[in-house]
Amino acid sequence: MEEGLTSDEPDLEEDLDPRPPVVTIMGHVDHGKTSLLDAIRKENVVEGEAGGITQHIGAYQVASPSGDMITFIDTPGHAAFTSMRARGAKVTDIVVLVVAADDGVMPQTIEAIQHAKAAGVPLILAINKIDKPDANPQRVRTELLQHDIQVESMGGETLEFEVSAKTGDGLPDLLEGLQLQAEIMNLRANEKRDGEGTVIEAKLDRGRGPVATVLVQRGTLFTGDIVVAGAEWGRVRALIDDQGENIQYAGPSVPVEVLGFNGTPDAGDRVVVVPSEARAREVTEYRARTKRERQNARTGGANRSLVDMMRDLKEGAGRKELPVLIKGDVQGSVEAISGALEKIGNDEVSARILLAGVGGITESDVTLAQASKAFVIGFNVRAHKEAREAAERAGVEIRYYNIIYDLVDDIKATLSGMLSPTLREERLGEAFIQEIFEVSKVGKVAGCRVSDGVVERGAHVRLIRDSVVIHEGKLKTLKRFKDDAKEVTSGQDCGMAFENFENMRAGDIIECYRVEEIRRTL
Ligand code: GDP
Repeated sequence: MEEGLTSDEPDLEEDLDPRPPVVTIMGHVDHGKTSLLDAIRKENVVEGEAGGITQHIGAYQVASPSGDMITFIDTPGHAAFTSMRARGAKVTDIVVLVVAADDGVMPQTIEAIQHAKAAGVPLILAINKIDKPDANPQRVRTELLQHDIQVESMGGETLEFEVSAKTGDGLPDLLEGLQLQAEIMNLRANEKRDGEGTVIEAKLDRGRGPVATVLVQRGTLFTGDIVVAGAEWGRVRALIDDQGENIQYAGPSVPVEVLGFNGTPDAGDRVVVVPSEARAREVTEYRARTKRERQNARTGGANRSLVDMMRDLKEGAGRKELPVLIKGDVQGSVEAISGALEKIGNDEVSARILLAGVGGITESDVTLAQASKAFVIGFNVRAHKEAREAAERAGVEIRYYNIIYDLVDDIKATLSGMLSPTLREERLGEAFIQEIFEVSKVGKVAGCRVSDGVVERGAHVRLIRDSVVIHEGKLKTLKRFKDDAKEVTSGQDCGMAFENFENMRAGDIIECYRVEEIRRTL
């Protein structure tokens, strides 16, 4: 069915031309990823040109000082980068690692390094906020050594640039560096063939219908082409570039908004041009079917038999699930969130994604959440008024986020709360029974001597006879002579009675211990 859809036939050497590098900016939160993307973009807009309209389409191109183009992907964070990669989409050629000079290497800096390494993508360092009085770029360089990043000025291979997104200092050098790195990588593509690319972002636009930002990676995409992306297809009605201009075609490394899809494809979907509508239908119908089947397998489907459910319950005995619904503003974030949530569980607890989709939170989302005792996550979207009211009536919780990491941390904390605590035993002491008394109203009492440590009232005890544990429980009473005692120490005699147990004998050993509950986290 999919055969011959993408041509894996390599391009001829003479057909290959240099193409712009595709760059993703990664780094710790607040280190200036967004500011840097904005600054680079602003720097490039010729003043007065088109009123400086900057349109967010998920990616844009700028010219480096030498005039060659560079494409920047403008997606929300590492999770998006990784979820695209998890789907087999490789779009990034170079990662710019942003580290704030006044803050140094932080957890997400390390995470970014790991992501880039895992993807085999070279990294360029941008030490940002160099304008700040407490900026310490040298510290950044040294700290990075621990993470296997050796910058040029320290004898390594990683290009490094001191920049300020605020003042614009160093930005031209950074762009030049990217250009240099691209030349080293000898990035080339054949533009004289049918267009192929990857969906970076997709959304349902009120006025324009499904809108997908596509990064063209090979060939040239033209208006009028019939394209397939994942389970969706369409005839390209319009191509709109990052300046908001209509264009007729887009070549390698060019990001464009594609209008004309019949449905909203997913971020990471491969886009290919097909020869006819019939072929497009055939491919997408097949894919839609397999996608549905996959989803049913994951969510359990609506029409599973009782037997299936019973079996799942049995197999999943002990495994607790946190059902969630995810609604987000763009497909990229929704994918990223789903991917991240699917990863944070373990054998005992996990998040179960009932639905993940693009758009505001609707009444039907709330109904589904209510039925499954789930809560709803709104990422950069809000609930419609009716949905809000329905949620209040039904007691369905809606949590809003605008930062993926906050969301993931929060769910992690919730899941951690569902983990049963670890019990740790702390040995207190030991006593042995000398004789057994019968006390009216109390029942049997063991006359003991503490041989080691202490014995405490209310503590846990274990009764050991001939090296075999014959009872485990709690101490009901602890007496020293006639009086209640809180604790009795080594060498002293005492009387003990147990909760729900009377079958003790002279010669038994009593082990006394405390149990501490330790909360676990994921
Ligand atoms: P992100 O979370 O990595 O996208 O970081 P942002 O771009 O949102 O920046 C976080 C904060 O740092 C914002 O308040 C920015 O104004 C500030 N910031 C970013 N770059 C610079 C810089 O070069 N110099 C100074 N002084 N502040 C900056």
